[in-house]
Amino acid sequence: MKNQWNVDHNKFTQADIKKVIDTDVLVVGAGNAGMMAAAAAAEKHAKVMIVEKEASINLLRLGLGGVGTNAQKRAGLTINKHDLVEYLAAFAQHNVDEGLIYHWANHSAEAVNWVEDNILKPHGAHLRSEPDAMVTSSAYEGFPTENDPTIDDQTFASYGDWFQEKIAELGVDLQFNTALVDLVKTDDMVTGAVVKNVQTGEYLQINAPKGVILCTGGYSANKDLLKQWNPLALKKNVYNDSPRNNGAGITSALNVGAIKDEEPAECIFDRGLVPVGTKTDEMYVQTATYQDWLWLGSHPLLKVNLRGERFANESVPYQFIVNAASKQPGYQYAMIWDDNYGEYAKQFHTLGCARVGFPGYMASAEKLEADTQQYVDKGLVVKADTIEELAEKLHLPVDALKKTVARNNELVKANIDKDFGKEAYRLTPVDKKPYYGCILGGRILCTSDGLRVNKKMEVMNAAYDPIKHLYAAGNDSGGFFFGSYPDRVPGLAASHAQTFGRLAGQQAAEN
Ligand SMILES: Cc1cc2nc3c(=O)[nH]c(=O)nc-3n(C[C@H](O)[C@H](O)[C@H](O)COP(=O)(O)OP(=O)(O)OC[C@H]3O[C@@H](n4cnc5c(N)ncnc54)[C@H](O)[C@@H]3O)c2cc1C
Repeated sequence: MKNQWNVDHNKFTQADIKKVIDTDVLVVGAGNAGMMAAAAAAEKHAKVMIVEKEASINLLRLGLGGVGTNAQKRAGLTINKHDLVEYLAAFAQHNVDEGLIYHWANHSAEAVNWVEDNILKPHGAHLRSEPDAMVTSSAYEGFPTENDPTIDDQTFASYGDWFQEKIAELGVDLQFNTALVDLVKTDDMVTGAVVKNVQTGEYLQINAPKGVILCTGGYSANKDLLKQWNPLALKKNVYNDSPRNNGAGITSALNVGAIKDEEPAECIFDRGLVPVGTKTDEMYVQTATYQDWLWLGSHPLLKVNLRGERFANESVPYQFIVNAASKQPGYQYAMIWDDNYGEYAKQFHTLGCARVGFPGYMASAEKLEADTQQYVDKGLVVKADTIEELAEKLHLPVDALKKTVARNNELVKANIDKDFGKEAYRLTPVDKKPYYGCILGGRILCTSDGLRVNKKMEVMNAAYDPIKHLYAAGNDSGGFFFGSYPDRVPGLAASHAQTFGRLAGQQAAEN
């Protein structure tokens, strides 16, 4: 029996608890926040245990944001912290705890530098900043916050295994296949948790007198919670790329009197390929393997609604086009392009992971074309010699699409987007056959509304007082994001998780 949150709480009796384990600090979830929290607490000589419900740690992210990191200093980059914080707060219409954003900005470099010095350097790797990422236009503003782990400055270096070695060296006890079931609260203090071995079904109690740190990564895998807290996300998104995150961290804290953000926030990418004719209500594919993920989707090519009409400036952060499509019939949109798209990609200067060339994942225009071709072969991207044929294959009204393409080409010739204001260098024609098209929807990467925390990362109760010895970090913690994710501060999500994980670990160890 599940509760109203569709999470397995309160399903055991005391008699079911077969074993009691003592530690100082218990971290729940071995992802971006949890691994940092564990390392930080262990560095302060606490005895630390991490419980992770899957059989491996989660992917430690490659684009790491930060302000004033050593990598940025080496690249001669400075970021004005006040401008950045104001940008983030304004982006959220100030529906955030601005002090927390400053707290991140003040501590992010420490966390990023710690990863570089302790995890990367011993393995011959370092961080490289994205020096030309500062872009300022009214629609497309970017800050050069991203730091990328690399050995050769051409490709990413994955560092999860190295991190796992490091926490083992620090004496952290990492238990896989072990899921949080419930927090244990005695009087006014959290003293540990009940967890379940998901392979044996056995319940264990873990006593953690210095604190429990919740780092389970939000709730994007839990459709029942999405229905309650963010129903529009189920309409906008056709994929969930974080299938591990079912909300257990957040709901376990609500069970002991915590409060959470009252409004939803999420990070969405615009790369979800939808088979033509599928309704968004019918599709929410949970995948950890980038299934049917079209990198090209984040390029500012012509995008039209399901009536074949252009509906927004395509030169915007990833999530915006998905948001804009949610105000159109069917919640999805089509992208239309022509055979010169490899050339256009070079002129677009897309940032972060959408870049062609490092730190993007598409090393060259040729690689982008090959990536796209696999979806032509799979039938998710359609190809045609005429716009009429393309419209038919995409189930779009033929006359409307022909009119939209003709208008697009007219604007390209005039070198000005009189309809939606896209920058001239991002206006591209659709006039060289074969023509291409696909239907796209959103991919939710994570939810980011979470438990309200103070600057010590302590989870707060309804009186805004801390629930003693209960901490949250990463997407289990809130007060930081509102609505959409600010994509133009690349690496913010992972950095928020790692920076606040580190602070929570240090804090708990000091109890
Ligand atoms: C495809 C993709 C690309 C991304 N790219 C970037 C990027 O380049 N830069 C960036 O800044 N952000 C990126 N993000 C977002 C970033 O990964 C997240 O914001 C970040 O991982 C959040 O960290 P977290 O520790 O809160 O959660 P996670 O890293 O998701 O870790 C949560 C962990 O908790 C475990 N868990 C869940 N429930 C339980 C339970 N009941 N008991 C025990 N363990 C549990 C999960 O299995 C998981 O291992 C990306 C996300 C995705 C999906």
